[in-house]
Amino acid sequence: MSILEEFSAVNCAPETCAYCHGNGGAGSGFACSACRGQGSVLVAQPAKKCAFCHGNGGAGSGSHCPACKGTGWALSENCSAVNRAPETCAYCHGNGGAGSGFACSACGGQGSVLVAQPAKKCAFCLGNGGAGSGSHCPVCKGTGWAHAIQD
Ligand SMILES: [Zn+2]
Ligand SMILES: [Zn+2]
Ligand SMILES: [Zn+2]
Ligand SMILES: [Zn+2]
Repeated sequence: MSILEEFSAVNCAPETCAYCHGNGGAGSGFACSACRGQGSVLVAQPAKKCAFCHGNGGAGSGSHCPACKGTGWALSENCSAVNRAPETCAYCHGNGGAGSGFACSACGGQGSVLVAQPAKKCAFCLGNGGAGSGSHCPVCKGTGWAHAIQD
């Protein structure tokens, strides 16, 4: 890697959303609009709190901080170097739907999904992906993880 590439790579990792205090809006019936219910957002590292709202995202005021969109963090639009690793799919408990005759619709039958590290569970469904309810968690699409990468 050249020096230029090292400087242009933006290393990001999940940080707790200030607006919902990391619960993703779970219990309200609505996904937090700052983190889209995930409870955390990808932030350029080393993480810096938003200077405009002092990191509270505007929580309590009824509206989002305009600078950080309510997350409380100085965001990066270009997270080019996010560490990812496979984590067990919550919807099929890692078996990919084997035995049912259908591939798990959350992980495509792979049993795991690539998740930004350090891995954080989806706050909206508390990481169960909606398994047992008969439908996927709308936030994590059933994987049970925040910032899962699906294709
Ligand atoms: Zn949030
Ligand atoms: Zn802010
Ligand atoms: Zn699965
Ligand atoms: Zn979820």
